[in-house]
Amino acid sequence: MDVNETITWLDQWFDRLIEEKAYLSELDQKIGDGDHGNNMARGAVATKEALESKQPADVSALFMTVAQTLMSKIGGASGPLYGSAFLAMATTAKNSENLADIFAAGLDKIQQRGKAEPGEKTMVDMWHPAVEALKANNLSQEVLDEASAKTAELKATKGRASYYGERSIGEPDPGAESSKYLFEALIKAQA
Ligand code: ADP
Ligand code: MG
Ligand code: MG
Repeated sequence: MDVNETITWLDQWFDRLIEEKAYLSELDQKIGDGDHGNNMARGAVATKEALESKQPADVSALFMTVAQTLMSKIGGASGPLYGSAFLAMATTAKNSENLADIFAAGLDKIQQRGKAEPGEKTMVDMWHPAVEALKANNLSQEVLDEASAKTAELKATKGRASYYGERSIGEPDPGAESSKYLFEALIKAQA
């Protein structure tokens, strides 16, 4: 994807985050402090503004702007995680156009920073299957829906949600859902 196609993809993600603000916060209300939708929508609005005011020269510069804006506007646990993911993606995008490699770098950074493994009910439970599918060239809505349904059954052992113990079981993880919208937008952008 060139820089304009990548902007279109990310812009769809931002619009979706803004649309689903109430739902994401509702999910976070059940197993956290109820702010994930507000956090992500704030980051989305700010990043849309940043991209409108200055067109990035290439995909790497685009990911860098996204990283910096998300890092400074989202806050909480998810801001630094998304921020460092896009930072790693910006670095990888300098030398590669391969989306599997780019997202794998993002996932590595999320895991380095958050120390979460798959199965702990975090955004890793969306990124991990999505990256595996990208590597196998079979990322689809089904892969994402399955990952989302799986996070609902998991008990959280990382982040704020881990304080809820068994009560964290039943609904999807908010960060996994906001990440799902990123990959859904990617599927649409590639169609
Ligand atoms: P906070 O928990 O600080 O209020 P948010 O509500 O914005 O931050 O984000 C919560 C989401 O962050 C969770 O649903 C989960 O997906 C993700 N998260 C939290 N801790 C970790 C971690 N250690 N590793 C990966 N993701 C995490
Ligand atoms: Mg929260
Ligand atoms: Mg919070």
